[in-house]
Amino acid sequence: MSAPPRETATTPRRLLARLRRLMARATELPPRLDGLVRLVAAEFVAEVCSVYVMRPGEILELAATEGLRPEAVHRTRLRVSEGIVGTAAAEARPLNLPDAQNHPAFAYRPETGEEPYASMLAVPVLRGAEVLGVIAVQNRAPRRYAEDEVEVLETVAMLLAEMLHGARPATEEAVLTLPGSMARHFEGIGLTPGITMGPVLRHGRRAAPRVVLAESPEAELRRLREATDAMQRAVDALLEGPARAAGQEPREVLEAYRLIAADQGWLGRIEAVVRDGLTAEAAVERVLAELRTRMRQISDPYLRERLADIEDLAGRLIGHLGGAGPDEEMPQGFILIARRVGPAELLDYHARGLAGLVLEEGSPTAHATIIARALAVPLLAGCRGATESAVAGEPAVLDADEGRLVLRPDAEIVAGYTATLAARAARRAAEAGLREVDPRTRDGVRLTVMINAGLLMDLPHLADTGADGIGLFRTEIAWLARGGLPTLETEEALYRDVLAAAGGKPVVFRTIDLGGDKLLPRFAHEQEENPALGWRSLRIGLDRPAMLRRQLRAMLGAAAGGTLSVMFPMVTTVEELRAAKALLAAERRAAERRGAAPVAVRAGAMLEVPALIWQLPALLDEAAFLSIGSNDLTQFLFAADRGNPRVAGRYDFLSAPMLDVLEQVGTAGAAAGVPVGLCGEAAARPLEALAVFGVGIEQVSIPAASVPAVKAMVRSLDLAAFRTFLAGLRRSARGGTSLRPDIAAYARDHGIALD
Ligand code: PEP
Ligand code: MG
Repeated sequence: MSAPPRETATTPRRLLARLRRLMARATELPPRLDGLVRLVAAEFVAEVCSVYVMRPGEILELAATEGLRPEAVHRTRLRVSEGIVGTAAAEARPLNLPDAQNHPAFAYRPETGEEPYASMLAVPVLRGAEVLGVIAVQNRAPRRYAEDEVEVLETVAMLLAEMLHGARPATEEAVLTLPGSMARHFEGIGLTPGITMGPVLRHGRRAAPRVVLAESPEAELRRLREATDAMQRAVDALLEGPARAAGQEPREVLEAYRLIAADQGWLGRIEAVVRDGLTAEAAVERVLAELRTRMRQISDPYLRERLADIEDLAGRLIGHLGGAGPDEEMPQGFILIARRVGPAELLDYHARGLAGLVLEEGSPTAHATIIARALAVPLLAGCRGATESAVAGEPAVLDADEGRLVLRPDAEIVAGYTATLAARAARRAAEAGLREVDPRTRDGVRLTVMINAGLLMDLPHLADTGADGIGLFRTEIAWLARGGLPTLETEEALYRDVLAAAGGKPVVFRTIDLGGDKLLPRFAHEQEENPALGWRSLRIGLDRPAMLRRQLRAMLGAAAGGTLSVMFPMVTTVEELRAAKALLAAERRAAERRGAAPVAVRAGAMLEVPALIWQLPALLDEAAFLSIGSNDLTQFLFAADRGNPRVAGRYDFLSAPMLDVLEQVGTAGAAAGVPVGLCGEAAARPLEALAVFGVGIEQVSIPAASVPAVKAMVRSLDLAAFRTFLAGLRRSARGGTSLRPDIAAYARDHGIALD
């Protein structure tokens, strides 16, 4: 759930009341600053309190001080990043240092006479993402300022932001907000495929609260409560409307969100801050800042998701308070750029014309990703720095297929993408006709094209695309969407729905693949140095056999009377597969005793760990089928983290090492009479699928969105001729260089449809 209520009122009313009186008394900035540093120094029992103000050229100038030499005012200047004050400004975060003088960033300024001060707390004065200055307190004795004191100084910094902003000439503001003009390119990971162009909208760029100190806390509290009620009603309405149609898992995500909307933890904390004398808007921002600071120290993805939910709700609350909120002007077909975004907000944006989503954070299993996938909105994640560079209303190109974002694209890029989009639209119209046709090559080979799935909402794609079945059902996705282990009944019902929706087409259920980046809250995941190589997947299942057996029980129950195909992920030794099969056999016997067992059970292994390649004969004796997990096998074969764009794109799937491995496994499978397929995302593009078929693997499971294009490629292909070409190309390949240009050139010359 959200952050616990904070018992201590950290914003001392007395200080705020005094500051309010000061603001009423002094209308000019210099006396206000002088009064403020005096009051804060007294409140903190600090020998020094100083305010530094940002001047043009990224210079922080001492503007007022209590405790340093008065003649240093307007003389002491620090560059951003210089000294502790400059570092707090550069990093836009508080620095709390009991031994400031020995900190590497310490910059000694003799004119200030600050030698004797050991401890320092420096807090940036922020307005949105902009740094307007820094406020710092210093004490002679070494001490670490308490968390409450940091929060008080952050509240004072909010007030300072209001004062400094109000005193700034309008021209300075205009200069600071001039849009950038250069194109900026970002790389990220495409979590939902697609290309879109449109104007940028920045999420969470709320205007800083105009007024920080409330005239009457009672009236403010009333305003807050009315806005909270209105927000909760609006959330209820939203969840009744668009979310209804979204399928089971997104609904569960959104139900959790509804609970947070009513949670007294963070709402109660906002009320406490209002009681201390802040306006409701300022209190919301204050509480959010506190939460963000605490969340920064938390790596648990579940809790991070909760923060995204609270940020989302806070934006709504400010909207209901009458400030800038989700009702900002939204151009049609916009690309939303955000650090994070909550699930309900995403639904809201979608209703207002969202065409694409770019996240600085984000992961394949984040709530926003689950919703974006359901809405088929292209999503690019991991674009660090995009929110800072983006300017609302300016054009952007989002290419989630290639993992690229271009802000302010130049004319050539726009022209290129316009042509691509037009070609895609034409192709999509043609592809609609492909639903009913088989993926059969020109020389008559019937290949198998299945889809990857993990949520109920993926199932209609089976009929939409005419795919041959579900080659990979990622069972852990539903667990992650739910935020915990499902009951046996819920799980069995889900699998039964999946089999019913497949209408007799084959479905391969994969047992839970937790660990790595897929972490369940409250599950005993430990911090690991290399989670992708750690306690994950079947390793967890074999160490927690009761959990794995329960999942197998649900699968067996769902497939009673029919066929169950189940595969185990991350198998590393044949003994592991044997152990997993033994659990399956025990559960099957129990199901038979209950009289509710499948007629046939096929147990396969995923080939993701290279060590299995050297165990093929024994493996093929045990496995009813093999499915090459192309994402993990690629990552482990090249020792390149699949989630790290810096290295993930460095080695090519279309190179001799990978194609040799695929061929070796396919050939061994064929000789043993064990079907071998490839699943994951690697064959999502027609060129890669072409190469997979070319080395003799005739079955792929890919994202549903890729099926029409792969089918079209297959139907334009003379497979025998291509195989001859590819074998020759691989024989002449030197080292691990990419064969992509040669394969693409062949495809072009031979009329093979590639996108
Ligand atoms: C794979 O690794 O290719 C695979 C299908 O598993 P995951 O869910 O890890 O992508
Ligand atoms: Mg995998």
